Amino acid sequence: MKLNSIIVKKFGGTSVGSIERIEAVAERMIKDIQAGQKIVVVASAMSGETNRLVALGNQIDPNYRGLAYDMLVASGEQVSIALLAIAFEKRGYRAKPLLAYQLGIETDNLYSKARIHKIKTEVIENLLRENVIPVVAGFQGVDENMNITTLGRGGSDTTAVALAAALGAPDCEIYTDVPKVFTADPRLVPKAKEVDKLSFEEMMEMASLGSKVLHIRSVEIGAKHNVRIHVRSTFETREGTWIVPEGEIMENPVVSSVTHDPNTVVIKLNPVPAGTDFLAELFEKLAARGVSIDIITQSQSEHGQRLAFSVTVEDLPLTNKVLDEVLFSQKVERITMDKMAKISVIGVGMRNHPGVAARFFQVLAQQGIPVHLVTTSEIKISAVIDSDRMKDAANALHSVFDLDSGSN
Ligand code: ADP
Ligand code: ASP
Ligand code: MG
Repeated sequence: MKLNSIIVKKFGGTSVGSIERIEAVAERMIKDIQAGQKIVVVASAMSGETNRLVALGNQIDPNYRGLAYDMLVASGEQVSIALLAIAFEKRGYRAKPLLAYQLGIETDNLYSKARIHKIKTEVIENLLRENVIPVVAGFQGVDENMNITTLGRGGSDTTAVALAAALGAPDCEIYTDVPKVFTADPRLVPKAKEVDKLSFEEMMEMASLGSKVLHIRSVEIGAKHNVRIHVRSTFETREGTWIVPEGEIMENPVVSSVTHDPNTVVIKLNPVPAGTDFLAELFEKLAARGVSIDIITQSQSEHGQRLAFSVTVEDLPLTNKVLDEVLFSQKVERITMDKMAKISVIGVGMRNHPGVAARFFQVLAQQGIPVHLVTTSEIKISAVIDSDRMKDAANALHSVFDLDSGSN
């Protein structure tokens, strides 16, 4: 089989959100097959379903994470792939829905944020050879004991790109409810503009700073294995946005996007034991549970050393568990600030243009928006602010960095 003729196509929750939409996906895919493509379909759960499952679990124990949680939340994908397969079969095309254990998507056992170790390709290759459409459940894997694992919210993108990499496919199509990647989330910034091409690096920053459009691991895998990612609409046929190596982009604007993350929590601890041993223990334990700490600041007060850091809302239960362990029997004030958001500007062009930080903080000052935590890298600046000011900040920054539609 000519490997580069295989295209992995992933459909997100909204794209398979109803029976009508599932049938429309099948119709569209059949057109691609008739045009000569060998396709592998990856699907997410129907929109709202994963949230519903999470809420069911939370009703019993909001702090539980582990094997049963992953089995629970992975079940939405089983429904959507079975329905898609039925839609193909009704149209006279043979299709096989595949769960991770049937296909061989092997992961570690870090439940609810597992990482893929290996994907076996024989099953898919055999199906394609027999003209059967593989319809793969996104988001899930199996650990070495055959327990179901999940890859983190939004993880179906990662299933798709990892599968494309394993199959040696040069690109991967991510079908979603927006026609392109925009300079900001169009739901928050009405003047957001469509972008035709973005570098892996910029998209990685966007994903890690909260833009939902692609799961961060999918972009990392794309970059590492040279799988170009095409983000496009399920509801329109026009070309979407290509995520490609930086060298393929001719011109880089200083700032290419404004990204927000409403799911930010700041935790303040005061006082923490002096020195670095405590910090090392805390961050090591959090890392072992797969919690990545975002922004960290340390300061000195008359009561001793203070620590503040941010995590995602999703990681709060695990973070609290670890804090209970390491702070056990110590008198430390713990404040959780949950109505926080992170706002960031990103652009590889920033490397060669000083003054971005100055403009960033001027805008927030003009808007009277207090900043709680800050972090920067070569290609981004982020600040944690109150979530009720997120929309103002995003729109003002978008405008100041010349991203508004109609601005050029
Ligand atoms: P899917 O269910 O298809 O995986 P997601 O909801 O995960 O879709 O991602 C698509 C959503 O990402 C869009 O509806 C949009 O609101 C949001 N989004 C955030 N930032 C951006 C951006 N810069 N460009 C496009 N969409 C964005
Ligand atoms: N269904 C999962 C979620 O809602 C995975 C995905 O949509 O990519 O997070
Ligand atoms: Mg998604």
